[in-house]
Amino acid sequence: EAKREPGSSYRFYDHQLHISAGHQLRLEGDLRHALRGRELELYYQPRIDLATDEVRGVECLLRWNHPERGLVGPDEFIPVAERSGLIVPIGYWVIEQACQRLRESADLGFPGLVFAVNLSFRQFHDRKMTETIFRIIFNANVDTSLLELELTESAMMHDLDYAQRCLRELNQLGISFALDDFGTGFSSLSNLQHLPISLVKIDKSFIQELGHSADAEHIIRAIISLAHSLQISVVAEGVETEGQLEFLRDQHCDEIQGYYYARPMPWKDLVQFLRNRGQAACLQR
Ligand code: C2E
Ligand code: MG
Ligand code: MG
Ligand code: MG
Repeated sequence: EAKREPGSSYRFYDHQLHISAGHQLRLEGDLRHALRGRELELYYQPRIDLATDEVRGVECLLRWNHPERGLVGPDEFIPVAERSGLIVPIGYWVIEQACQRLRESADLGFPGLVFAVNLSFRQFHDRKMTETIFRIIFNANVDTSLLELELTESAMMHDLDYAQRCLRELNQLGISFALDDFGTGFSSLSNLQHLPISLVKIDKSFIQELGHSADAEHIIRAIISLAHSLQISVVAEGVETEGQLEFLRDQHCDEIQGYYYARPMPWKDLVQFLRNRGQAACLQR
């Protein structure tokens, strides 16, 4: 039938394209509205220092309180935000919000807490990125040494020279960088030496293989020893069991993040979590 009527077949595909483009547009519209209408919220997941057992910092993780669908996770809408470019204003909102909480945390008696924010590759397309981030942190008047940006290897590999320049500029302001989902990308380790990276986060897929695969153990050991030899700290993400924790402790992993200690939570729950741990006393020591 398609052969006899190429015209209708064409219209068929055209129609399909319109549906998916329409769907994308609707999601985009919803997201735009979400950004304006305060439907976006940051959750905070503690990161525990294995040497001191203190909460060293928190990762800020975006959530969408959708009026009909309830709480939507970032894996569902970050890709749409990236394709549409909306990730740029959303990303700035995330940094602004994180800076506000950073200030608040000191006032609440938790000084020295590190706030980590995820940055996606698409945010580098905004040529005013470093300038805008500079303006945000200047206006928020925060201690930039407590601000950390998490990047994946893909964020930088598109244009390594440009990424390097951005990172250096921000690094000069005191911001530090973490390489997220480490072990899943393809970048050559030699690239790392040219970037101001002070932390790597081992991807949770390796942690979850612990106890099931000897390879995962070897890879984790190798990452930790390589990172340490380059003066880079290591965070293991996705730690869910005591067994995983003990293995990582034995390997001198610096920090862990995962459901074993705490799930990502709203701000007021985090404040309660820190109070329950007697965190303020620890940090002020
Ligand atoms: P990520 O940066 O690698 O964040 C860690 C993810 O692992 C989070 O998922 C966290 O909830 C989850 N996680 C932590 N501990 C455990 C555990 O013990 N077990 C399991 N199964 N999962 C654990 P989440 O919050 O759904 O975020 C997913 C991804 O979305 C993030 O991965 C990050 O790439 C992206 N994302 C989140 N917030 C932002 C944002 O503000 N901006 C950008 N560009 N990306 C974001
Ligand atoms: Mg991250
Ligand atoms: Mg990660
Ligand atoms: Mg991830």
